[in-house]
Amino acid sequence: MTERLDQFMARANQAYYATHDPFADFTTAPEISQVFGEIIGLWCVVSWRLLGEPSPVRLVEAGPGRGTLMADALRAITQVAADFRRALSLDLIETSPRLRARQAERLPDAIWHTSLATIPAGPMILIANEFLDALPIRQFVRRGEGWTERHIGAEGFVECPSDAGLAATAWDEQTTADGRNGGPVVNEGEIVEVGEAAGSFVAALAARFASHPGAALFLDYGPAESAPGDSLQAIAGGRSADPLTAPGKADLTAHVDFAALAKIARGRGGAVFGPVPQGLFLTRLGLYQRTNRLARNLSPQRALALLEAAQRLAEPHRMGRLFKAMALCHPSCPTLPGFET
Ligand code: SAH
Repeated sequence: MTERLDQFMARANQAYYATHDPFADFTTAPEISQVFGEIIGLWCVVSWRLLGEPSPVRLVEAGPGRGTLMADALRAITQVAADFRRALSLDLIETSPRLRARQAERLPDAIWHTSLATIPAGPMILIANEFLDALPIRQFVRRGEGWTERHIGAEGFVECPSDAGLAATAWDEQTTADGRNGGPVVNEGEIVEVGEAAGSFVAALAARFASHPGAALFLDYGPAESAPGDSLQAIAGGRSADPLTAPGKADLTAHVDFAALAKIARGRGGAVFGPVPQGLFLTRLGLYQRTNRLARNLSPQRALALLEAAQRLAEPHRMGRLFKAMALCHPSCPTLPGFET
């Protein structure tokens, strides 16, 4: 008996998030600096105004972790846009009961969902930081004129005959062995990854935005262009681990294929902005101005720590380049903040 990688990954991550404090294993941007959540809050305010200030509006976060990003965002929103604060209600998409309890301490007025599907149709602004990278992926291996799919067996990875899965994805038209369709060349034995769960999430959002005003902001790590390669990684106890050992004890993630997601969203009638490197995005939104303003009221030591945190988020060799921001919105929406060319 073997199990497809995406099924293995879904099962392993569900067990992991239900039983572990992920923040003991890794640190995410909102946990690095409060300014991250604050400027994303301001992004939501400006986006809401560009959407024509729909009221009521749902402010949704997917995979809110400890609730830090949303708590920081709401604080900033309350300060600058009382009208938006009054118009919004809060929905959180979270599967882990353990993390829901953490989120409830900071965000008692939220309504929780296990998926996008139960959030009623209507105007919406959605944010998600390091959510898509946790969703399960499939891996296909180029063999001759066709593909095999990676499963997990008792001894580790095994290649099984591939079903029609790949044909349903954006990779299908791109991945000829000779790059005929203008897509990347995939050589014998190379792996391509397909994030079906991320693709469905983005497709469902684009479909919603076609009939109601809406915008979504994704921040995550991955290349701007689709490329072959194995990006599956595991973190356990704060260290990199073998993804297949001890399912449920490690956090499994994979690079987000932004180009594939953009294509899916456009195919459903959505408009897409980016991806742009996170450092550029945050700097355009005033990361350093806000950091400097806060630093003025701090001790020199704490001011330096805050500046160092901003640099960690934005400098290219740290989180500034591998992480990207991409937005999705209603087709007639003007350019969203941070995506100006
Ligand atoms: N956004 C937070 C947390 C990132 S960790 C931050 O930046 O700190 C990933 C988050 O996504 C966790 O809250 C995890 O429980 C949630 N998550 C993972 N897979 C999920 C799924 N399939 N559906 C809903 N939430 C999921």
